[in-house]
Amino acid sequence: MEPVLNYINGNFVRAASGFTLDTVNPATNTVITQVARSDATDVATATQAARQAATAWGATTMEERIVWLERIADALESEAETIAQLESLDTGKPISLARRVDAARSVDNFRFFASHAKGHQDPMFSDHGAVNHVHRSPVGVVGLITPWNLPLYLLSWKVAPALLMGNTIVAKPSELTPLTANFLAKTLHKVGLPPGVFNLVHGYGPEVGQAIVEHPDVRGISFTGGTATGKLVAATAAPMFKKLSLELGGKNATVVLDDAPLDEIMEGLVRASFTNSGQVCLCGSRILVDASIYDSFVAKFVAAVEDLRIGDPLDEATQMGSVISQDHKTKVESYIQLGIAEGGTVLTGGLSEEAPVTGVPAEGAYLRPTVLAELSASSRTATEEIFGPVVTLHAFSNEDEAVEMANLTAYGLAGSVWTADTERGHAFAKRMETGIVWVNTWLNRDLRTPFGGVKQSGVGREGGDWSMAFFSEMTNVCIQLP
Ligand code: NAP
Repeated sequence: MEPVLNYINGNFVRAASGFTLDTVNPATNTVITQVARSDATDVATATQAARQAATAWGATTMEERIVWLERIADALESEAETIAQLESLDTGKPISLARRVDAARSVDNFRFFASHAKGHQDPMFSDHGAVNHVHRSPVGVVGLITPWNLPLYLLSWKVAPALLMGNTIVAKPSELTPLTANFLAKTLHKVGLPPGVFNLVHGYGPEVGQAIVEHPDVRGISFTGGTATGKLVAATAAPMFKKLSLELGGKNATVVLDDAPLDEIMEGLVRASFTNSGQVCLCGSRILVDASIYDSFVAKFVAAVEDLRIGDPLDEATQMGSVISQDHKTKVESYIQLGIAEGGTVLTGGLSEEAPVTGVPAEGAYLRPTVLAELSASSRTATEEIFGPVVTLHAFSNEDEAVEMANLTAYGLAGSVWTADTERGHAFAKRMETGIVWVNTWLNRDLRTPFGGVKQSGVGREGGDWSMAFFSEMTNVCIQLP
């Protein structure tokens, strides 16, 4: 594969230093290609290009930008299979998942924001003999920083509304997964987006991400990633009074009430636990089960988990591929060891040495889906984000205890409740300290709704009107009527 270059001011260019880094296929531990390893110099060049393009792009009308978004959606859609293949190669996720979720949703993000903005009118208020017009203008140059788990899905979730609202962009994907961001740059180039409107700088977080956050001309930062990195981003951006949206980590609770129809919901529970090898920020990694059905739940859940087909990501039948890297595999295994040290019992899966995945390259970053029981709900294993194919099971004796357990982590991103009684599920959901709760479903996303976390899972909301508000500044003009 040809090397991955930065995209700055409409040109594909090497890092100014000439340095590169390798991007690796985690399913085989082989190098796919070299990627520009950029630094603050490249960020400065990209930001200057974005600044120069900002006036003309910001002066286009919303209607014109809607047409751009539609054009981009069409171009991506016509290459959906390429996107899925690149994403599967770069992340080790199953090709079927990359098609269904990553490729499809990346197209949807552009289409959604184009359609959501159609007919949009800025609000007007009249009172005290005056009329107030709320005008939106672009923030200016915005920095978009994204993680490796859903690379193009999450990048396009920011690029689409940022362009829609007239901003110019300096983006940085995770250094682990640059391929589809590069493909997006090529697509934007092909459809003729004006130079400087979208700039992409590859490289390491502390070298490129930090430089984007620090750059005084980058007026807004939309960051998705881990909570520890989010703290660094906030500490840098806040004293500069930048607009800041932080979508951070989670340790989400899946709550199974005593009336839940176990046979019907089992497939949904396994999906909520192990989609993308548990590397979705919304995955439920703590399953809280009513004690009266706990034994029956455990038997059914473990059997369903053991039915998952783990293997070559490019095999159509594979349901779980590798995790993102050997380093991440080591991190996840350290949590399995911690869980055992904290008194947990491995019900299925476990360390790769003891429970190897067979029929895959030995160098691949594979792990079996792992279920741990008998851990305290307040143990480190049950409260810290692992972000891998590991779930812990906990029994509760009444709903108050379940609420307490659900809310005891520092995170508050998502959760789900499973019950035969949707009213009861709704009432329970409202007691959970999270940004999103699903009742009898998971990852069912209406893109008009607010998305984001509470506590250490983030600051702000994205989605529909919330994204449009984040990527714009508002000026209220109050006119006294004659
Ligand atoms: P991460 O290590 O925090 O990295 C996220 C992004 O930030 C990457 O592009 C990274 O670059 C960059 N970065 C690293 N250090 C930086 C710095 N000092 N300044 C600016 N940017 C910096 O997260 P990750 O491991 O890629 O992703 C997993 C995490 O993301 C999990 O915690 C997961 O829950 C969270 N996540 C949250 C959501 C949500 O919507 N709430 C969605 C998906 C994932 P490098 O990769 O090159 O280091």
